[in-house]
Amino acid sequence: MKIICIGRNYRKHIEELNNNIPKEICFFLKPNTAIPLKNQPFFIPDFSNNVQHEVELVVKINKNGKHISKEFSHKYYNELTIGIDFTARDIQDQLKKEGKPWEKAKAFDGSAPIGSFINKNKISDSNNINFTLLVNNQLKQKGNTRDMIFKIDEIIAYVSTFITLKSGDLIFTGTPCGVDKVHKNDVLTCHLEGQELLKIKVK
Ligand code: ZN
Repeated sequence: MKIICIGRNYRKHIEELNNNIPKEICFFLKPNTAIPLKNQPFFIPDFSNNVQHEVELVVKINKNGKHISKEFSHKYYNELTIGIDFTARDIQDQLKKEGKPWEKAKAFDGSAPIGSFINKNKISDSNNINFTLLVNNQLKQKGNTRDMIFKIDEIIAYVSTFITLKSGDLIFTGTPCGVDKVHKNDVLTCHLEGQELLKIKVK
């Protein structure tokens, strides 16, 4: 199982980090060790002083495929959830400056908690899904998938031209604005269309 993450997919988030709007989909991978064991808290790694939350809609692939065309992408997933792409922003900024890959900042253990999955049939339009992240019950991030620069179907088609997608793979589809540093004892809660799917404590 692999985790594919899309970077720079919401305009306001691109602006808050002073990045450029991409012309092509930007993606990177996390290993399966990025998913914490069930009910485990998120442990802030010692190597960073600025780990930030990025709430994202997550798509679970349910069928193997390569060179999937956009009009068939919807047949390759039927479950969705919310996940957090934890990012060591200080490390990432340094790596970006040096033109190095992002793994140290993105792929560390426990950096990709995911919520309970819901069937996509329960959602009327996957391009109009509201999702939020609360820190200690305060709203910090609020997104809607209609604001994605590259939609789910385009992402599946694009990624599958480079990498074979396999059943069980997860795609994190990018974060809206509002990313911020997490602190010990924070409690992060994520909702999709008002339904709580993920709650995780920071240690
Ligand atoms: Zn992200």
